[in-house]
Amino acid sequence: MLLLAGAPVNGIAQDAGHPEGVPQPTPAYTIDAVRYASIPGFRTAGLVMGADPAERTDIAMVFWVIRGAGRVVLFDSGFHRERWFSTFDVTDYLRPDSALTGLGVAATEVTDVIVSHAHWDHMGGIELFPEATVHIQREEYEYYTGAAWREGGRRGGIDEDDVVALVRRNLAGRVRLVEGDDVEVLPGIRAYTGARHTYASQYILVEGAEPFVLASDNGYLYRNFETRTAGATFLPTDRSGNEAALERMLRLAGSSDRVVPGHDALQFARFPSRGRVARIRAPG
Ligand SMILES: [Zn+2]
Repeated sequence: MLLLAGAPVNGIAQDAGHPEGVPQPTPAYTIDAVRYASIPGFRTAGLVMGADPAERTDIAMVFWVIRGAGRVVLFDSGFHRERWFSTFDVTDYLRPDSALTGLGVAATEVTDVIVSHAHWDHMGGIELFPEATVHIQREEYEYYTGAAWREGGRRGGIDEDDVVALVRRNLAGRVRLVEGDDVEVLPGIRAYTGARHTYASQYILVEGAEPFVLASDNGYLYRNFETRTAGATFLPTDRSGNEAALERMLRLAGSSDRVVPGHDALQFARFPSRGRVARIRAPG
């Protein structure tokens, strides 16, 4: 079920659900990964629990583009705020709206941004896509616009300007809150929870004859899936929930080839790539 966080500007609420008893064909979405930056030499132990503390991995900074049925949907949005360049050693940076033009898509053509979670490098680009409706878990929205900033709140990796941008998008009537686990966000795109990387992060399944799961930070690297090892979690007690989610993502996709990790540069080797773009799923 979907609920609107505010009244839609145009008065029309798009209904992702199907009229009862009328089966709708699943849109034949294409899926592309866009690498807008890299962070070389990231501590692997920060991505795979228990990894050798000395091991380093070059990670890709990515958002995904899902196109079909008249929509351009981003899963995550990258970042653009200056302060994060001094916090992390970001290289090869191209602002996400510019990186998107590599697919021949203008930023204003983006209809929807599904935000996996509120961290700086995932929600930090929503302002770059001003026409888009932002889809985020209700609990994620409520926590990071509220309790996270009060005593005892956890707000590591959250940029307060991103939160303001999210609230502004809501004031403009273009935030849709996703109500928990196993929910159709848009026709043929379902959101799942259970991996508490943040307060209520989500991952998505793009349905079709060849279904794909886009994990975002709920599964950073192929290695998380191959060894069923959690990455960073909201609380240490969430480790088993995170590991169960890795298992579930593999089951939902039906093949390990169709689960795409959040920060693994290997996705640009395993799928046909050109420049910054990997073609995850070709037109059906
Ligand atoms: Zn994250």
